[in-house]
Amino acid sequence: MSAVAVVGAGPVGLTAALAAHSLGLDPVLLEAQPRTAVRPGSRAIFVHRATLDHFDRISRGLGDRVCAQGLVWRTKRTLWAGRQVHVHSYGATAAVPFTSLPQTVVEDLLRRACDAAGIRSVWGDLVRDVESTPDGVRLRTECGATHDVGHVIAADGARSRLRTQAGIALEGSTSTTEFVVVDVADSIRPDLAERVFHYRHPGVGGRNVLLVPFRGGWRVDVQCLHGDDGRQLVAQAHLWLPRVLPEVPDPRITWSSVYRFQQRLAARFTDAHRRILLAGEAAHLLPPFGARGMNSGISDAVAAARAVRAGSVEQYARVRRAAAEANVHAAGAALEHLLAARRGQRWLQWAAATASPLWSRAGHWLDAAPYGPRIRAVGY
Ligand SMILES: Cc1cc2nc3c(=O)[nH]c(=O)nc-3n(C[C@H](O)[C@H](O)[C@H](O)COP(=O)(O)OP(=O)(O)OC[C@H]3O[C@@H](n4cnc5c(N)ncnc54)[C@H](O)[C@@H]3O)c2cc1C
Repeated sequence: MSAVAVVGAGPVGLTAALAAHSLGLDPVLLEAQPRTAVRPGSRAIFVHRATLDHFDRISRGLGDRVCAQGLVWRTKRTLWAGRQVHVHSYGATAAVPFTSLPQTVVEDLLRRACDAAGIRSVWGDLVRDVESTPDGVRLRTECGATHDVGHVIAADGARSRLRTQAGIALEGSTSTTEFVVVDVADSIRPDLAERVFHYRHPGVGGRNVLLVPFRGGWRVDVQCLHGDDGRQLVAQAHLWLPRVLPEVPDPRITWSSVYRFQQRLAARFTDAHRRILLAGEAAHLLPPFGARGMNSGISDAVAAARAVRAGSVEQYARVRRAAAEANVHAAGAALEHLLAARRGQRWLQWAAATASPLWSRAGHWLDAAPYGPRIRAVGY
């Protein structure tokens, strides 16, 4: 009997398998999709320093390999109705503070690291049933295989079957406001790469717009106004993109999506027998703003493997749920700021924009608030 099975080979499951292997646990990784399946879009493009450190600890040199594929932007700018209210440059520091690249590239590097470590994996076979007892877990797959294991790290994503079968509810809310994401292909020069946040962009009818460069292109995130149809905004991207991204005269869209802010949390991060550990989107759904989704999922994955090794599942469930709760709270604060539904909030933002030329802290606040409060203390 294997000590641990990891269900789901997204970034969280792959990390959990590597972390378990690094602790001598001999994991088996089970994934529903075929190994060759290609996932669309840039998705989680921002890899935090803490995540790179996790990678280096569980697989020698992995953080460096991710950095080598990524892009680091050193300047961030915030504008209000086309006027700059804040600019900050990190300068060239020795340690890479983060890196920006498509999630698929990170997944590919994680898969290679799993292969190099000799981790057993089964692809293209969905885990259909999970049965947890005080002594272990039995997994049955669509193709008829049975896996008896001591513990399962459930990294099977937002619609987690394992979470549902364990009877654990996913609680929380989804915003009514839509956000539009468009990926635009571009070979960005790293020394010219800047992240730019626009409040009330005049070229898109006064909507908020976030531009994030990553290796291979731009991520353009537009906040719909009340009554907007996100899909229509995507269909009209050829009209507003040149005004938002003048540096790309002939924009080629490689992916687009319409999403809503999710703030959802599993009621518990483990089952009644402390045998199933929820991790990543199986445990919490967070919006892209703040880059908390994948990064916090990777912290879950590493903590879950350690908990299986140390027999401290209860503690895992408590600590990682508290971290997720803090992330949900931060996402809520970010959404409230972005929506600025109350007149007082709108006035405060306008006042900060007006004061910013004379009082830099006002511009700094406008720059930071769309991401919600920083919660580094809980390790994402
Ligand atoms: C439009 C968009 C933009 C995003 N932007 C960001 C961002 O900027 N920053 C950020 O941090 N995050 C972002 N995210 C979120 C990020 O993509 C997710 O946090 C991340 O993919 C979650 O990883 P995961 O491994 O938990 O789940 P997933 O990536 O969903 O992986 C789950 C895996 O489990 C497999 N699976 C499911 N059920 C079973 C089963 N029964 N048996 C076996 N396998 C199963 C699936 O096939 C899948 O491979 C974004 C997501 C979207 C959609």
